[in-house]
Amino acid sequence: MSFPYEAPVSQSLFDRASVVTPGGVNSPVRAFRAVGGTPRFMVSGTGPYLTDADGREYVDLVCSWGPMILGHSHPEVIAAVQEAVARGTSFGTPGAGEVELAEEIVARIEPVEQVRLVSSGTEATMSAIRLARGFTGRSKVVKFAGCYHGHVDALLAAAGSGVATFALPDTPGVTGAQAGDTIVLPYNDIEAVRAAFAAHEGEIACVITEASPGNMGVVPPLPGFNEGLRDLCSANGALYISDEVMTGFRVSKAGWYGIDGVRPDLMTFGKVMGGGFPAAAFGGRADVMAHLAPAGPVYQAGTLSGNPIATAAGVAQLRLLDDAAYEKVDAVSAELRTLVDEALTKAGVAHRLQVAGNMFSVFFTDRDVTDYETAKTQESFRFTAFFQSMLAQGVYLPPSAFESWFVSTTHDAAALERIAAALPSAARAAAEATA
Ligand code: PLP
Repeated sequence: MSFPYEAPVSQSLFDRASVVTPGGVNSPVRAFRAVGGTPRFMVSGTGPYLTDADGREYVDLVCSWGPMILGHSHPEVIAAVQEAVARGTSFGTPGAGEVELAEEIVARIEPVEQVRLVSSGTEATMSAIRLARGFTGRSKVVKFAGCYHGHVDALLAAAGSGVATFALPDTPGVTGAQAGDTIVLPYNDIEAVRAAFAAHEGEIACVITEASPGNMGVVPPLPGFNEGLRDLCSANGALYISDEVMTGFRVSKAGWYGIDGVRPDLMTFGKVMGGGFPAAAFGGRADVMAHLAPAGPVYQAGTLSGNPIATAAGVAQLRLLDDAAYEKVDAVSAELRTLVDEALTKAGVAHRLQVAGNMFSVFFTDRDVTDYETAKTQESFRFTAFFQSMLAQGVYLPPSAFESWFVSTTHDAAALERIAAALPSAARAAAEATA
């Protein structure tokens, strides 16, 4: 397939990057391997727009994979960062910003009584699992196929279908021992969870799930699924860990918890709460959190945890995220979904728009997607053609068919018009694509 738009400066940066960095990128999806072509090297962002190294502007529907819910370079977030930077960049001591960010989180999310700040979502889920194991004295962890919780060794396993597949590592470098205590189950299948608890009585420390998955595309929990997990964990003495790294502070003030109200024991956060900086967190029941060092025996630490710049950005962003902000993001998302739906329908392309609050993704399939197996039935080659056409017309979509699209409060009528203008030919490209 040839791509209609060249990006010579990005290409030369990518060539240089490929010499000094494996695959030319610092996170695999950025390399465009799923869609082909030259990854765009971005140099600046303002509101809903990104500008690449070739000077070309795009409407951004990735928003840094979620964090930029107020758009790029929000003046108040930038001002808070500049003010913090002027006071120094890292102290290795406690600081007021950490207290403020923790208080913001605890105030918004009722099940979170205490919270520990870390620097990435991966650290948050890794630490939450360690804490669950330390608290319960058990070793097994249940996760769901298609749910991504960062690159934690024990969670890089989504192997196999069937009811209770013991995890095979998904990647070289993770040993069977590291993944051997992970039980991977099909998403949205509560009977599989019940069976796993019956088969491993007294052995399961926790069930970890994306509060509403966005990493196999958007696949919301079926009615009653999260409640079922809650009940089974309670009945079997296991902790229920809700991973809200993606949904937290994005789909509502209180994340997915604000939508379904199912009360986890522990929760994990990242992305939006850092305002575009590396800040993440895990938190929950005070009696569980009390097991963390230095209060308790479960070790967890970080040189840059609670970094003053990151916490200043996070506090500024969270304080700006009032009800009106979420109404705006929800409305933009609904309008965009309508535009996409109309264009694909008109071009005769089978598709499903799956929605979780203001997150959504487009599956190129005529089946409802409820788990990873159904997600994989989509015709990804149509997405590739669609993506490339949108990119060539200045709309930056997630470079994979298995990702959520993200919008911000700054996606205004002008940004939506640009997208609307690009959609008909992209939809035709999807219709004409062949495998
Ligand atoms: N959990 C979920 C649900 C995520 O979506 C991600 C990242 O996309 C992570 C954990 C890992 O976060 P990070 O990339 O900050 O390590």
